Order: sequence, then structure tokens, then C-alpha cells
Amino acid sequence: MKRPRVALIAHDKKKADMLMFVREHYEVFKKCDLFATKTTGELIQDKMKLEITKMRSGPKGGDLQIGAMVAADGVDFVLFLRDPLTAQPHEPDVSALMRVCDVHNVSLATNLATAEALVKEISILQRDT
Ligand code: PGA
Repeated sequence: MKRPRVALIAHDKKKADMLMFVREHYEVFKKCDLFATKTTGELIQDKMKLEITKMRSGPKGGDLQIGAMVAADGVDFVLFLRDPLTAQPHEPDVSALMRVCDVHNVSLATNLATAEALVKEISILQRDT
């Protein structure tokens, strides 16, 4: 069975949470094919030994690139730590990404609680295959 394909995106105020989360679940993520928006991906790669395919930065179209991958069945899971308290210039792109995940029934986690559930799902998949 192929490795789970996971997209990682974190808004600026959530990047520290993302780093902590990926570090905590390093053993799961190192057995995934990882994709990320530019700054999120660079940050994780800088701190951890993980290979990540990086898209454009979120505000410059990276969320849409990941959305296009979802539409093309190129991503199995999306972990998107959104900042719900800060206005984002690319809010339409954020909505489009979430919508396309719903259209294609792709697991989408938008906060740390659902991210935990998503990682459990991935680890069960890895264990059973
Ligand atoms: P970034 O994009 O990883 O390039 O910061 C995230 C976003 O704001 O969607």
C-alpha cells in the first residue's frame, strides 16, 4: 500500500503549534509523503529531518495548489492549522481548500484536537498495511 499523502499548512500564529505537533508525531509523519505551503514546509524542514514537497506560500496561491492536488486525488489528508482570530488576505483560498476537501471527502483537520484524530487515522492505516 502506498504511503499516506499528507498536506501541512499553518497560518503564522499557528506555526509553533504545527512544529510541536509534527515533532510529537514524527514517527507517523516520517512514513508519509509530505506536502506543505512554502513557509510552513521550510520551517518544519529546518527543524526536522523530513522531506517535504513545498508549494507556494499560502497568500501567494499555495492553498490553492494544495486544493488542486486534492481535486486530482493527489492528497489523502490535509492538516490545516488555521488562525480563526486573524483576518487573512487569502481567505477565499482558505475557503476553497476546505470546500474541495468536502467535495472529495478528504480528511481535513483545522485545529489540534482534530489533528490528533487525523494522525490516529493515519497511524492505523500505516499499521494495517
Ligand atoms: P505559508 O502559508 O506556509 O506559506 O505561511 C500558510 C497560509 O497562510 O496559508
